[in-house]
Amino acid sequence: MVGVDCNLRNLTVGNDDQTRYYDTSETMRIAKVTTRIVSSLKRNDVRIRESVASKYGRRRSAKTRHVLHNATKEIVTVAVQKRTAIVLENIEGIRRLYQKGNGQGRKYRGRMNGWSFGEAQRQIEYKARWAGLPIIRLSRRETRGSSVTCPRCGERLQSDKRLERKLWCGKCRIVMDRDMVAAINLSRRGRVRFARSRPPIAEAQGRAVEAMKGNPTPTVIPGVDAPKPTSHTASSSNHHRLKLVLLSLSSRSLSPPERRRAQVRQI
Ligand SMILES: [Zn+2]
Repeated sequence: MVGVDCNLRNLTVGNDDQTRYYDTSETMRIAKVTTRIVSSLKRNDVRIRESVASKYGRRRSAKTRHVLHNATKEIVTVAVQKRTAIVLENIEGIRRLYQKGNGQGRKYRGRMNGWSFGEAQRQIEYKARWAGLPIIRLSRRETRGSSVTCPRCGERLQSDKRLERKLWCGKCRIVMDRDMVAAINLSRRGRVRFARSRPPIAEAQGRAVEAMKGNPTPTVIPGVDAPKPTSHTASSSNHHRLKLVLLSLSSRSLSPPERRRAQVRQI
């Protein structure tokens, strides 16, 4: 399982074994240029200003999509090769963090709100779907604190202006990269979700047969076998589905016709 952290500068993909960075800082430059063009318009006609702004807005999102496209394509391709499910953080409500009146500067808010985080996730999701790769989307609760918690000891990490994108763990006495910390924590939290849905071994074997037969109702012997809550049954068959999908990935997703179809769709 790999976690994907989307931030302003890059997409960071990783787990305990390895972390890779995909530079997307170009999207920041595009956003900057667009803002400059739109704000340099001196005409005081609101309608013209609005139409020009939306024209540049469209152009900007087309360019941004293109930059992100290369990164997300490779992220999904590598995950397919390594048979690792992708874990995405929950970004709901992130706009609310940068609203007016939060004590942030206008420029800072503009930068954060112009950020195309949702687009990166959207691309990863649909490309993964094409490849048959499982995506685990964490809840807000599961996402919380993923970028400030030490992956080694669980302590809250300290930031320091002098450290820039680095964080310091006072307990482990080490400096870590913020993006790497986030990616590792996301991958672990995805694994926790996966493990929680895993039933005990004996039960798992029984349920695997059930799942393959496509039989949703387990046989219950009255008085001996208490009925299990349905949510448990659902999650254990989800678990098997995820496992089966990962096992069958390499043969399915890299076949040329499917790939061609995926490329056609992306245009
Ligand atoms: Zn630590």
